[in-house]
Amino acid sequence: MSPNKVIILGTAHGSNVPGKCSPDQKFREYRFSRDVVALIKPRLEAEGLTVFVDMPADEVPAPQGTELRLRCKYVNGICARFGKENCVYVSIHVNAAGADGKWHNARGFSVFVAPLCSPVSTRLATTFCELAISRGLKGNRAIPTVRHWKANYYVLRNTLCPAVLTENLFQDNRDDVEFLSSQAGKETIATLHVDAIKSLFAK
Ligand SMILES: [Zn+2]
Repeated sequence: MSPNKVIILGTAHGSNVPGKCSPDQKFREYRFSRDVVALIKPRLEAEGLTVFVDMPADEVPAPQGTELRLRCKYVNGICARFGKENCVYVSIHVNAAGADGKWHNARGFSVFVAPLCSPVSTRLATTFCELAISRGLKGNRAIPTVRHWKANYYVLRNTLCPAVLTENLFQDNRDDVEFLSSQAGKETIATLHVDAIKSLFAK
């Protein structure tokens, strides 16, 4: 099993980034991501892991190119300090089916890795997906047989350590937003992350 001991949690976007919210603007992705990170961090630390957060503040540098570059610089700085083989990056987002400000039908969990990712990334993403299915978070997603999705996302492509990006249900689906807005919903997503990350170190 891999000896990874350092987890870097990635927050989504920021309060100053437009869009990234439900059609009624009550649910905001940046807030949900930071709330879930706040739940996950102490639980991972209680497991003996060292945990960092790439951009904990609500506001992030603009434009997005700068934000993403600085997130990767932060992650790669930790990789240089601890050894990239000892680090894992998990970026926590909420999906959207459209950018038209309307509600959509798509719902459910998905998890992404870079096209040329490490075996640890693939293993972690697969575990995330299988746990999500077993906990009723699949929604109406068509799950690939490999149990993860590939995407050339900047933060996956430009971080040196194993990295996954979770899309935790949809912010433009009414049922998903209702669930994610509840304490039980946040707890469920937080526990999914804790259990998937813990599985990396299971015997
Ligand atoms: Zn996002």
